[in-house]
Amino acid sequence: MTEHFSEAIHNLQVSWPDITSLEVSYRVVESFDPDFAVDIIEHPDLNAQASNQALALLLREMGASNIVAFVRIIDLPPDCNRSVRQLRSEDLGRMISVDAIAVKISGVRPRTYEGTFECIACSHRIMVSQPNEQELIEPVECFEIDGGCGRRKGQTRFVQRVEESILINSQFIELQEPPENLRGGVQPERILCIAEHDLAGKLNPGDRVTANGMLFVRSQRKAGKETPIFDIFLRIHSIERENIPLEEIQISEEEESEIKELARRGDIYDLFVRSIAPSIHGMNEVKESLVLQLFGGVAGRNKDGSRTRGDIHILLMGDPGVAKSQLLSYMASISPRGRFTSGMSASAAGLTAAAVQDPSADGRWTLEAGALALADLGLAAIDEFDKMSQNDRASMHEAMTLQRISISKAGINATLSTRCAILAAANPTSGRFQPVSEVPFTNQINLKQPLLSRFDIIWLLTDAPEKNLDTLIANHIIDNRMSAVPEILVEQGSRPDPTKTADEAGLTMYGKTSIISRSLIRKYVAYTKRNIHPTMREEARDRLANYYVQTRLKSGEQTDSVSITARAIDGLFRLSEAAAKIRLSSEVTEDDALRAIRINEHWRFALMGENFDETTLASGKKGNARNRERTIVEIVSRIHAETGEMVNLNDVFTEAGRLDINRNTAEDIIDRLVLYGTLFRPRHDYLQPG
Ligand code: ADP
Ligand code: MG
Repeated sequence: MTEHFSEAIHNLQVSWPDITSLEVSYRVVESFDPDFAVDIIEHPDLNAQASNQALALLLREMGASNIVAFVRIIDLPPDCNRSVRQLRSEDLGRMISVDAIAVKISGVRPRTYEGTFECIACSHRIMVSQPNEQELIEPVECFEIDGGCGRRKGQTRFVQRVEESILINSQFIELQEPPENLRGGVQPERILCIAEHDLAGKLNPGDRVTANGMLFVRSQRKAGKETPIFDIFLRIHSIERENIPLEEIQISEEEESEIKELARRGDIYDLFVRSIAPSIHGMNEVKESLVLQLFGGVAGRNKDGSRTRGDIHILLMGDPGVAKSQLLSYMASISPRGRFTSGMSASAAGLTAAAVQDPSADGRWTLEAGALALADLGLAAIDEFDKMSQNDRASMHEAMTLQRISISKAGINATLSTRCAILAAANPTSGRFQPVSEVPFTNQINLKQPLLSRFDIIWLLTDAPEKNLDTLIANHIIDNRMSAVPEILVEQGSRPDPTKTADEAGLTMYGKTSIISRSLIRKYVAYTKRNIHPTMREEARDRLANYYVQTRLKSGEQTDSVSITARAIDGLFRLSEAAAKIRLSSEVTEDDALRAIRINEHWRFALMGENFDETTLASGKKGNARNRERTIVEIVSRIHAETGEMVNLNDVFTEAGRLDINRNTAEDIIDRLVLYGTLFRPRHDYLQPG
């Protein structure tokens, strides 16, 4: 066996101290010596010590006596695998492996591993090894056999000589079971772990790992006394990171061919749009953009070390009751690593991350990952985005653009990856959007421009009464209610759970249409994220470039404002790439580019009317349409103030004409202003400020 590892040991010698451990696969050990392999599982502590000593010996033989390194067993057999919630006292002392997310880390601190103590009476040195990180064990006696004076604890005092003790790095890590393995509504469980030596400082909050180690217990303490109740801890022996992205999602061969078959369908885009929140009527353009967001573009690394974001961020800005929250929670449920949270999130870590002093980690400072880090490579749906905390607001820019959060606080330095798409919802500050207002829509929500500009798409969803649409929505909601299965009956087991049965099949029926099941959507998306990285075709590229230039030109003629900024090109790129990924295509075609352009036009139109005006977003000032409304209101107010009487409509037209607003336009605007109560028409042909 030694020969088998001689090359690995040589490598270790060369790359030390960058690499300080020798990873040994359990499977290899098993193939050499099955009995020994079983022993490793059953007595991990003894074997860890023995193998570290053996490694030290080998290294010394190779002339590398200065190297301190550790043997770490990885690839444990499946019967060692436990979920956090399954950890029980039967597992104590054995080697187990846990698939989990690191949610919290403490600062890395040195702890005494071998304490050297001095006897005050005779200056003799006594070594005591320290297995417990919560309590320093002092010598009980200055042993005569070792050359000491023989005094016992009460007769002398022992003082630790830190400079002569052996200290090692140690860190507390809290692992949480991954949400994928949970049944709906159950809170994920956590376990506190101890990582030492080179394992300390290796993980960041949000990392997904398999942690191999040994469970041990400590009595809970109450008022300084030990109680018979124990807390379970995991001492980590080795850490494995995921090998493929989204490893938790397994795709069988049948499922893969099912995905490929779906991708060939001519109506695949429609099929996806229909499959998004089918209980919500209409909003097909919004849903189409959400489908593209689910897939996302291609993230890239550049020569200069910078990174291009592939994820598409979308903001749903709308009146209450337009199904924003419903859409968000649905999207979180179909995305791999989807997370649904609120800006007003109750958890201390909030959306980004928080450093707190943690009593369960001996009062050390710990860093806890927020929703974005936990949704890394997935989708974070954030409701009430406009109500997020100051702390989150401050790190959100970095989290959205660079897709990481760097934190340096109380001795903890960490960088958390937040490579997730963000789907946010916000309500207007005044409760409802004011349709005719001098304030543009984007200023009616409590989000500042720099943050808004991080979104690729901003949908404006207003709740204007419209008879036909209202009838449709009403029928839709009612049909939905009527087809639901009573929950009590499902829980009693007398009726099958419709959610579950729908999830098991690939395609299911929703009412009269067939849609893709949630679990297949999740697998479809994971499949493309792993395997499909399309490149842009020349024609597609030209389309996007042309569109950009044309839109810039068009706005240049009208006003001094610029209708679209360079940032939009990135957004268009991402949307086109996502469109190609849905077809599992290795190339982004002209059609994909056109789809991206169409979606772009839609949301801009919904938000700003014909004058897609990015300076509106940028400065909070409104271009043409809104300026004209304001001009008319000003004219009426001025004449009214001057004369103190009702204002003759013809005078308004004359004044407006001078400012290049023709009579027809002025009439339209006045009608609208009267309708919304901004102006008041006491008599025909007369106006008054409202
Ligand atoms: P918001 O978060 O925008 O305030 P919600 O997501 O809480 O709104 O939705 C309110 C209710 O209205 C939900 O029960 C939702 O199903 C219903 N609803 C609103 N619009 C639609 C629609 N277009 N189709 C079906 N249901 C809708
Ligand atoms: Mg809501």
